[in-house]
Amino acid sequence: LVSRKRQQADTIIQLGPAAIGGDKPIMIAGPCSVESYEQVRAVAAAMKSAGVTVLRGGAFKPRTSPYDFQGLGLEGLRILKDVADEFGLQTISEIVDPAHIEIAGQYIDVIQIGARNMHNFELLKAAGEVRIPILLKRGLSATLDEFLHAAEYILSRGNTQVMLIERGIRTYERATRNTLDISAVPILKQESHLPVLVDVTHSTGRKDIFAPCAKAALAAGADGIMVEVHPNPATALSDAQQQLTIEEFNQFYAAIQRSGLF
Ligand code: PEP
Ligand code: MN
Repeated sequence: LVSRKRQQADTIIQLGPAAIGGDKPIMIAGPCSVESYEQVRAVAAAMKSAGVTVLRGGAFKPRTSPYDFQGLGLEGLRILKDVADEFGLQTISEIVDPAHIEIAGQYIDVIQIGARNMHNFELLKAAGEVRIPILLKRGLSATLDEFLHAAEYILSRGNTQVMLIERGIRTYERATRNTLDISAVPILKQESHLPVLVDVTHSTGRKDIFAPCAKAALAAGADGIMVEVHPNPATALSDAQQQLTIEEFNQFYAAIQRSGLF
């Protein structure tokens, strides 16, 4: 079902004013984790004035260490909803438990399935049962074939609103957090009709190369970019090293817009 052979036309996912997979790429920005109402509101206000319509923020955080901040859970989804309602934004947040897939739709507009859960088949099946858009992240070491099969799990249950996002893969290279696989973009676009996005934050882990990597992604045909933004990254409860300040985001966004690719 995900194959271009099966469906020639691009799948377009309408999210508020934005059509993802259409002619114009989308910017998805927001904090790594939802930490407080004030924190999310500060980012949302800045995104609104920058013209960004989709806000991200993690409420259920799959962390490497069990001693690290695990997220605010449902309270985090509530904060996202309150802020999104105030500013008229669309929201994306990760869900990690199949039992939360159904209720998530009451709070957020897109369910993210994270890299660590790309192979969680029960979660994928649950995501296939609902009718809200799913943003599926490529697994840490997943081949493109495995990635597309994970998407197939969702479509096979009837949910056709799936977006794919390349977020870097594990290689021997340590100069970046993961290795951004740019070639995934044109290959996925050829193989599938689903929208393809690139997460510059988790793939590179390096603010200094977000802009060139985002431009490369767009030049390769990506339908959108995801980036993390925090009012005060130094105090962030997760990914403190790699979140942009609001000012840095504005510069990043302006650079991409100037490139003519956005
Ligand atoms: C995220 O986007 O919040 C995240 C945890 O990313 P990933 O699943 O790609 O590591
Ligand atoms: Mn993060």
